[in-house]
Amino acid sequence: MENLVRNLRSILGNDNVLTAYEDRYCYAYDATALGNKLYLPDIVVLPLSKEQVSEVLKLADKYNTPVIARGAGTNLAGSCIPVKGGIIMHLSRMNQILEIDKNNLLCRVQPGVVVEKLQQEVEEAGLYFPPDPSNMKVSTVGGSIAQSSGGPRCFKYGTTKDYVLGLEIILADGTIINTGGKTVKNVTGYNLTQLFVGSEGTLGIVTEAILKLIPKPESKKVLIAFFDSIDNAANAVTGIISSKILPATLELMDKFTMETIEKFYPTGLRTDMEASLVIEVDGLKESVEIQAGQIEDICKRFNACDIRVSKDQKEADDIWFARRSAFGAVAKLGPNVITEDAVVPRDKIPAMVGEIRRISEKYNLTACIMGHAGDGNIHPNFSLDLRNKDEVQRFEKAVDELFDAALRLGGSLSGEHGIGMTKSKYLKNALDERSIELMKSLKQVFDPKNLLNPDKIFYSNGIK
Ligand SMILES: Cc1cc2nc3c(=O)[nH]c(=O)nc-3n(C[C@H](O)[C@H](O)[C@H](O)COP(=O)(O)OP(=O)(O)OC[C@H]3O[C@@H](n4cnc5c(N)ncnc54)[C@H](O)[C@@H]3O)c2cc1C
Repeated sequence: MENLVRNLRSILGNDNVLTAYEDRYCYAYDATALGNKLYLPDIVVLPLSKEQVSEVLKLADKYNTPVIARGAGTNLAGSCIPVKGGIIMHLSRMNQILEIDKNNLLCRVQPGVVVEKLQQEVEEAGLYFPPDPSNMKVSTVGGSIAQSSGGPRCFKYGTTKDYVLGLEIILADGTIINTGGKTVKNVTGYNLTQLFVGSEGTLGIVTEAILKLIPKPESKKVLIAFFDSIDNAANAVTGIISSKILPATLELMDKFTMETIEKFYPTGLRTDMEASLVIEVDGLKESVEIQAGQIEDICKRFNACDIRVSKDQKEADDIWFARRSAFGAVAKLGPNVITEDAVVPRDKIPAMVGEIRRISEKYNLTACIMGHAGDGNIHPNFSLDLRNKDEVQRFEKAVDELFDAALRLGGSLSGEHGIGMTKSKYLKNALDERSIELMKSLKQVFDPKNLLNPDKIFYSNGIK
């Protein structure tokens, strides 16, 4: 370890190699609530260039040391946890927007760029980068690519994967490769770019990305509609979609979520109602007006008792503030909050919500239910105390049943948060054996010594 540290310091300088216990302690966590077990990295490095990333990986290969890439550490699947120790590679200092190319509608960025900053810069140029994980104020482009992050706007615009045209990747042995490029069409061999998207830092480290941009929508309007039942809210979602209207977002909150937001961040939500939908429409001014009117009519058809339509940016921001406060509000209910991420076919949302409620009641757990209804992506947020062994045991059983239910309803284990370490034990329930074998073979090809973010996706660590 001493030799490795000395070599790392000669490449990165003393300030960019951290070994003090208190520094390493900060990197034993990400945003996932994992209980008491501490996974300390041995070293933390903060590279400034692709050459440095490459040199670090060559050294890690030589010393057989794991390397875990890290952006803002906000993932919710334990994807940044150094389960086997090793080197945390914190990429936040590689945070330059290298190019915004208006002619080709793309940009070139380093992995540490914060998603909201990218959105602001491209919007100043009249362009748009739609992927918007709810915590985009802090999450990085590198982390979002490695998780294929989504967010509220996926229903209309797709997830991060739909915007990645090309990547510069450093492989486990330090080799630098480039995949894809600046063209929208590219059928030159296998699509390695998309193989890396969503691979959770297990196949290589992204040091640069070419991202597709689209023209910024001219106008937008936000509506919030309150319903007397989850079923009616979900049916309104189907009604809107089957009327061939394509809103940018269709966000669902249940009664308990609204009550919790009102408790800690009051914004005037109708806590006497069972559910609400936050719906944003965007596009040409005239079409936005027409679509907002059509959506109001459809919501009324499904018993929406109160529909509020934003008249200006301030009112739109206020509605979004309520939705984006949900996680923070639930976090105030108890010492820990665990956000699960199930995805089901859209028309199975009422059934999935029913399952979550049944399971929470059975195991006496507190769950606020919210999600991206347009994508069938439901996030039950469980408030609990991980020091309470009995509660943890009940929670583990509940999560087993929750994912059984999602799979039974034709859904999957994750819509956007990934598998990481927390869901690896369910992988065999969702994929056939041969598919898992093929995925493991790919890992073996790219990372024969299993040094890049080891024990993620495929292995169960018995945590929580
Ligand atoms: C309050 C809250 C709300 C959230 N809302 C959403 C949401 O709406 N939609 C959504 O999809 N997610 C959401 N998330 C989950 C998470 O924030 C996103 O997945 C996020 O984009 C991760 O970015 P990050 O920079 O924090 O990545 P990190 O957590 O640092 O890393 C995530 C993964 O990417 C890998 N990685 C990081 N950088 C690189 C790189 N340069 N090269 C290779 N691998 C790399 C890491 O090893 C790890 O496996 C939310 C999280 C929180 C806490």
